[in-house]
Amino acid sequence: MIPGSFAYHRPKSLADAVAMLADLGEDARPIAGGHSLIPMMKLRLATPAHLIDLADLADLKGIRADGGDVVIGAMTTQHELIASDLLAGKVPLLRETSLVIADPQVRYAGTLGGNVANGDPGNDMPAVMMCLGATYEVAGKSGGRRIAAREFYQGAYFNTLEPGEILTAVRIPAPPAGHGFAYEKLKRKVGDYATAAAAVVLTMNGGRVATCSIGLTNVAETPLWAEEAGRILAGSALDAATVKKAVAAAEAITSPATDARGPARYRTKMAGVMLARALARAQSRTRSA
Ligand SMILES: Cc1cc2nc3c(=O)[nH]c(=O)nc-3n(C[C@H](O)[C@H](O)[C@H](O)COP(=O)(O)OP(=O)(O)OC[C@H]3O[C@@H](n4cnc5c(N)ncnc54)[C@H](O)[C@@H]3O)c2cc1C
Repeated sequence: MIPGSFAYHRPKSLADAVAMLADLGEDARPIAGGHSLIPMMKLRLATPAHLIDLADLADLKGIRADGGDVVIGAMTTQHELIASDLLAGKVPLLRETSLVIADPQVRYAGTLGGNVANGDPGNDMPAVMMCLGATYEVAGKSGGRRIAAREFYQGAYFNTLEPGEILTAVRIPAPPAGHGFAYEKLKRKVGDYATAAAAVVLTMNGGRVATCSIGLTNVAETPLWAEEAGRILAGSALDAATVKKAVAAAEAITSPATDARGPARYRTKMAGVMLARALARAQSRTRSA
């Protein structure tokens, strides 16, 4: 329960942080809110020799609109996501998701960047970012690049960040006004990670689904984008038979672990139940622009 020894660094600029990570190599890890990394260090599942604290990097803070996108600095806390009027208006799915992450104490420190970069299949934001079609903005010693959330996750705790790269912001194309949204999460108790969860963003036109995007949490080694299920629903009136087909398509791409949250088959079924509920709630929230 006591971490190994490490050196603590607190750079004042993004350029300094990137240079430090490049100099110190694979022994160094960025730390944001510390609410995933420090528990891992206490269990000795992570033993970085150097921690680079991102807390003073002004470039990684703030929430702003940029044309049709919303750009959220990586060091924005989950509490700040909940409190943002801009997000409440443009991407309300983020508030709904943040409210079911952990508890207020964790949400005051845990950051969006840490949540999406961490790689725990139980983290809620990655599937939501896939659902929203978000892009991650990254800085490294050879410059900046953007990575689609849908291409970022490779396995539990494995993603396409290169060593030394820092995630600086998450860019989200704001869904159209009047879209429906929902994040349905089954958990054993308040503050728990998901047994299974589903994110939905949909638009309707003349009583039929115009677009539908679905993300699934904690039912595979990585978050899932249920592309085929969304395709099945497009053009439908969300009738029971089509929803059943889409739910089956979503369940088919899951491969959860059997663990303290239940047997794999149960968790797959719960992903389907969460999806059906999220679709119904998202539909009830759609309105004409
Ligand atoms: C009791 C408890 C319950 C929790 N329940 C949930 C839950 O229900 N759902 C959920 O989603 N999460 C949950 N969490 C995790 C919490 O949301 C974390 O805050 C989050 O996963 C990580 O964010 P952080 O800012 O704390 O990152 P840190 O712990 O500081 O970092 C996590 C990882 O990401 C890397 N990293 C952080 N920031 C960056 C960056 N900008 N660029 C590159 N790499 C970076 C770090 O090197 C580290 O590997 C829980 C945590 C606790 C302690």
